[in-house]
Amino acid sequence: MHTHIMPKNLPDWEAKFGYDGFIRLDHHRKSWARMMQGDKFFREINENCWDPNVRIDEYKAFNTSVQVVCTIPVLFAYFAKPEHGLEVAKYLNDDIAELIKKYPKNYIGLGTLPMQSPDLAVKELYRIKEIGLVGVQIGSNIENKNLHEPEFYPIWDACEKLDLAVLVHPWNMMGSKHMGRYWLPWLVGMPAETSRAMCSMIFGGVFDKYPKLRVNFCHASGSFMATLGRIEHGFNCRPDLVAIDNPINPREYCGKFWVDCITHDPLMLEYILKMQGPKRVTLGSDYPFPLGDLEIGAFINDMNLDYEVVNDIFCNSTLEWLNLKREQFL
Ligand SMILES: [Zn+2]
Repeated sequence: MHTHIMPKNLPDWEAKFGYDGFIRLDHHRKSWARMMQGDKFFREINENCWDPNVRIDEYKAFNTSVQVVCTIPVLFAYFAKPEHGLEVAKYLNDDIAELIKKYPKNYIGLGTLPMQSPDLAVKELYRIKEIGLVGVQIGSNIENKNLHEPEFYPIWDACEKLDLAVLVHPWNMMGSKHMGRYWLPWLVGMPAETSRAMCSMIFGGVFDKYPKLRVNFCHASGSFMATLGRIEHGFNCRPDLVAIDNPINPREYCGKFWVDCITHDPLMLEYILKMQGPKRVTLGSDYPFPLGDLEIGAFINDMNLDYEVVNDIFCNSTLEWLNLKREQFL
């Protein structure tokens, strides 16, 4: 339920809009492309980032037939002028809509939103519903605004009304400028970002204002679940700082949202399963990127879990999160 895809070709948005920050693709050799931000090299990607058949074949090796796809967070374009952010989002969403139309048994689509403009984001949510996507992926912060901010309420409201699920993905990692070495933005910043998003939404009361909102958090909640004791203790010992907008203990929210299983660690997954229950733990991979669980679910098969628990993680919990039926994919 957590895989990334992008169109094979991107417009030159920098040239079109007249400012930089957008990603360009440079197909510099067969089957590979360089993602460029201006003249800056961001990452080299393989055709499994855009070729649906290559992806289906690579998944077969792990007995996996359905992929929930969403864009790559570096393409969010939250920094852009709102109308440009909308144009980028539409382009990426239309590409995924085409894919799911062509391969309805293999792909499920999540859209992206111009979160810098909640008005335009809500409009795009209605379009996303029409073109057959079942949810959206959003970043853990929006140009450093946290997700509890009231300006995002209309987006949660529309997701609830339209029955669209939400995946919160870490990105724009805090502290990146000061920890360039050792891949720390990915290893330290990303888990912290997910906890930042979860704490903001919990302490801001988002789950109580929108009780039907179905949210999934990447990488097994990042550092949230592992530091929940500390978060709860902070809530109890300094309510004057923490419980200012919501009097409910953060621990009570476990099992109300979903998380993926990307822990790379059976011991941590056991803990996550205890905290969440198997119906709230979904099979994520982060495919096709190297930090993902690219031997999809193999460590879970080795954990000697009950068949029902594995079945929940591998299938049922994602279907429930997205409000879909197993039969659609058989
Ligand atoms: Zn990811």
